[in-house]
Amino acid sequence: MRISEVRLRQLQGTLPTEGDLWEERLVRPVDVYPEFRNRNDHEGGTQGPDGFKIATYFVEIHTDEGVCGLAGPIPETVAFIIAKHLRKLLVGQDAIAGEKLWDQMHRAMVHGRQGDAMLAISAVDCALWDLRGKWLNQPVYRLLGGPTQTQIPAYASMLGFSVLDLEKVHARAIEYKKLGYRAQKWFFRHGPMSGAEGLKMNVELVRTLREAVGEDYDLMFDCWQAMDVGYVVELASRIEKYRPKWLEECVMPDRLDSYAKLRERISIPLSGAEHEYTRWGFKRFLDVGALDVIQPDIYWCGGLTETLKIAAYATAHDVVTIPHGHSSFATAHFSAVQSPIHTPYQEYLVKWNAVHQHFLVDPLDVINGMIEVPERPGLAMEIDDSKIEQQAVVFA
Ligand SMILES: [Mg+2]
Repeated sequence: MRISEVRLRQLQGTLPTEGDLWEERLVRPVDVYPEFRNRNDHEGGTQGPDGFKIATYFVEIHTDEGVCGLAGPIPETVAFIIAKHLRKLLVGQDAIAGEKLWDQMHRAMVHGRQGDAMLAISAVDCALWDLRGKWLNQPVYRLLGGPTQTQIPAYASMLGFSVLDLEKVHARAIEYKKLGYRAQKWFFRHGPMSGAEGLKMNVELVRTLREAVGEDYDLMFDCWQAMDVGYVVELASRIEKYRPKWLEECVMPDRLDSYAKLRERISIPLSGAEHEYTRWGFKRFLDVGALDVIQPDIYWCGGLTETLKIAAYATAHDVVTIPHGHSSFATAHFSAVQSPIHTPYQEYLVKWNAVHQHFLVDPLDVINGMIEVPERPGLAMEIDDSKIEQQAVVFA
């Protein structure tokens, strides 16, 4: 079976919302500059009076046997790289030989070890897995020797909910616990440059959440690469009594030495590396024991093929792998072939899932706190034509 066409589709539609989808954003590394710190900008689309307008991209890999693999959503820059650089490597090739195609894409894209080019390779890899599953009429986890678990405990990732209105925080934490989520992750709004006042608000967020959910419940906190060692040590000293399950992405991912210092100086477990790429990138973290939990994103780090290799290396260090949750479908198939002790949770980004799954038939939902691994063939994604307001084939 040969690849006959690589098609990039742009889809536009409107996600209905009650009020603004994004209430608050997280702290970002660039917030050290006041002109960025004070912005309240958001990603993924545009808020309008009748909902959240989304324009996004999907890649389809077609074959001469009529079987088609789907991946997405992906941003425009990533769609462009697939069309302009990867398409010519793929058309005419054996669609089943994914290891060969990954190796060829990686070796050909010599400037593509990280960032958008690796996101492009990741999306193609996921589309090829989908294609293989559909060809064999089996869910991808079956091709990988699963399931090890058919239901995966989900934690609610609360990005986009207000973190400054503590009454709302308290109410939401209780609401999502009642929905059955086994744990919650919340996102700090302030970094080192917001000073003592910002630090106090970060601590208040943690205190409010622990009081809301009670003692026997996991809470995680995400710094989104926007802090430094001194600030995190101070923050940790004030919040460790609230027993966070982990502190995430404390500093930017190239600052490995800072992660190692933090591991020595604070007692809260560390997670991170969602902005790291490939097995070689993760090897750096694992070899120095920088993290307790690694969080490769299947759509960013090199695809499902690469994430499986990263996770295998992590298990050799007894390090937990809980992927960052860009694609809940890809992540569910990954989690369904891991030992439950090495992948005890799946991240479910509540608001991003509404955006990323808007165009999909049967979006992957969390029911009573659990993600049921879909039994449909491939990665189980299909475009819901009724959601499309406008569409185009782009970069043809
Ligand atoms: Mg994160």
